[in-house]
Amino acid sequence: MQLVRLILTISYLKRYLLVHYSEIGLKGSNLQYFVDRLHKRLKFVLEKALRKTFVVKHCLKRFLIELPGDFTNSALDELTYIDVLSKVFGIENFSFVFGGSIDLAVLAEQIHANLPDFSKCMNFCVRAKRSQILPYKSIDAERDLGARLIDFGLKLPVRLDDPDLRISVEFFNDTAYFSFKKYSGPGGLPANTGGKLISLVSGGFDSPVAAYRMMKRGARIIFVHFHAYPYTDMTEINNVKELVKKLSAYQFDTKLYLIPFGKVQKEISTNLDVPAKIRIILYRRMMIRIAEKIAHDEKAKGLVTGDNFGQVASQTSENIFAIDQASSIVVYRPLISFDKAEIIVQADVIGTHEISKMPCKDTCTMFAPKIPEIRANLRDILEVEKNLPISKFVDDSLSAAEIINFEA
Ligand code: ATP
Ligand code: MG
Repeated sequence: MQLVRLILTISYLKRYLLVHYSEIGLKGSNLQYFVDRLHKRLKFVLEKALRKTFVVKHCLKRFLIELPGDFTNSALDELTYIDVLSKVFGIENFSFVFGGSIDLAVLAEQIHANLPDFSKCMNFCVRAKRSQILPYKSIDAERDLGARLIDFGLKLPVRLDDPDLRISVEFFNDTAYFSFKKYSGPGGLPANTGGKLISLVSGGFDSPVAAYRMMKRGARIIFVHFHAYPYTDMTEINNVKELVKKLSAYQFDTKLYLIPFGKVQKEISTNLDVPAKIRIILYRRMMIRIAEKIAHDEKAKGLVTGDNFGQVASQTSENIFAIDQASSIVVYRPLISFDKAEIIVQADVIGTHEISKMPCKDTCTMFAPKIPEIRANLRDILEVEKNLPISKFVDDSLSAAEIINFEA
């Protein structure tokens, strides 16, 4: 018996990624659909980033992925996985686990042999979860393992609440999967589970975050940017391409429509029958109409904007109402109640802040009036639009569109 234990202890332990999901676990009869999508996404991103084949197994409401034989414990080796998994929506948390024995005496030795440097830790605890019938309860396993580890030299007091060293053990598949650290995933719902939406994206802070928030809820986003080139330089277009490239890591293939819009703005701004102060509202209503046409062609069922209530003088309830009336499909505004500071924090986390803060000439400020309307009256706007070639604006803009594809 002693010899068997010794062999089990010193033998090579397989390494796995153990991935937990949260919200999709509540999806009732739709659970399988969400699980399949997350499964597909995990396999896709890991194989793409690491250029290896991965077997992703779903068991008992978690995913278990065997790590390649050359995987080491080094932070460097873990980094690629952490980077990849932090962009997979649907993941609640994940850890790099060892596949240990369900014999507690052997397991304690295996844990001890693989303990990380604990010289800076003031306390520790063992947390166990069982998803199979075993001759001991989880709490008994925690106490037994803790006592044995202390005997082996882990001379630290036990602290159950927020310990410096947390040893997690999950018992299932006749294996004790143990780890020393849990990483948070981004949460949300798996990529491309919620239907297509068209996101209007500028080079600013807000719209990339708005698109991210909807992607996080499972929407497949197609991006549209309106630019004033050649009335401006290429900086804003280049920034938008960079932003969309960043966001393309969160979903399968991504499309960006670049729509030349300067000519429309120029025609509106030089039309003497158009009061200068409603120009911005007319531009926005044109953008919405063009985006709606793209939504129709792409079979998307809604638009997304980065509008934020009251952030700029033009984002009043009257103006948002007047702009909304140009669309016959839903316009999602996920940031409507966010503070600017909250948006910036989010932009920092997803890495768009750095790009959005680069100076560029904003399309919207081109041909803008000195004093824009803040309380638009829809009746007046419709009256002015009667004399504008609206369908020609839409058709001309779309026929000059450039489409850029980004790989996931
Ligand atoms: P952002 O930070 O996203 O630019 P903002 O606070 O500057 O937003 P506005 O410029 O009024 O606000 O734009 C409101 C929304 O209209 C944007 O969030 C975006 O969804 C859309 N939008 C504005 N300009 C463009 C553009 N050039 N191309 C595509 N969408 C745009
Ligand atoms: Mg803007």
